Amino acid sequence: MAENDEKWSGSPESVQYKPGMAAFLWLLGITALFIVMAGFFFWYVPTIGLAAIHPALPYVLGFALIGAALFVVLGAVFITVAALNGRFIVKSSAFHGLLVKFFLPVMMMVGGLLKVPRIKIEQAFIEINNQMVRLMGKRFRPDRLLILMPHCIQFDNCKIKVTRNVKNCAGCGRCEIGELLALSEEFGITLFISTGGTVARRKLYEERPHAVIAVACERDLTSGLQDAYPLPVFAIVNKRPHGYCMETGVALAEVRNAILELVDPEHLGGAPARS
Ligand code: SF4
Repeated sequence: MAENDEKWSGSPESVQYKPGMAAFLWLLGITALFIVMAGFFFWYVPTIGLAAIHPALPYVLGFALIGAALFVVLGAVFITVAALNGRFIVKSSAFHGLLVKFFLPVMMMVGGLLKVPRIKIEQAFIEINNQMVRLMGKRFRPDRLLILMPHCIQFDNCKIKVTRNVKNCAGCGRCEIGELLALSEEFGITLFISTGGTVARRKLYEERPHAVIAVACERDLTSGLQDAYPLPVFAIVNKRPHGYCMETGVALAEVRNAILELVDPEHLGGAPARS
């Protein structure tokens, strides 16, 4: 599995959904428009009753809704610029929060109505999330980082228990855990193999990392990013040569590049540059 690392460009289930961020961004625009129109509707209907209470009340509600609509539209514009141009118009992690906590759930709903494949929205969301983590420009000490891997990355017939202690791995090369362990030791970063979302959340609670590099399928990454916010999580989609949850893998070069993006250069020593 590991020797194909450099050639891999997407899992069998996901490669057809690698068109970039375009679909996500137009859906973002439609979602912003939808929210503004819903805001107008919710302003217009109660104005009739509000005017009867006090003539100024429809204006008060109108200004509040215009403010909220401006925030939504500007948020969509800022996220689009950050995704396309790789820069923030205004440097603020608030847009990351707006994307993760507000736009994504609404976009999933609007995308469902418009029959946009969920995986397409998730992949673009992951890409834009990583872009935003990069743009935040924060660097971390290796001992404040955590690499989180799903248990399904392990060779199915391996009898060694790596979920309690990944250092039990004998590095036989049948799966990528041995190489990931070597990578984590090279940089001094904790590597954790998780059996599920609850265990992963408990690990985050115990370790209190300042940032995470997480590998999983699109669905788990998307829900994990939402759960972990505001913790910066650099997300990497796994390889699935045998389908979901079965001897999955990861492009090791992507993990190395993510480490180089996040580790404070002072702690990089002689580590080779990005590949
Ligand atoms: S690399 Fe480690 S975890 Fe993977 S099969 Fe070999 S011993 Fe087991």
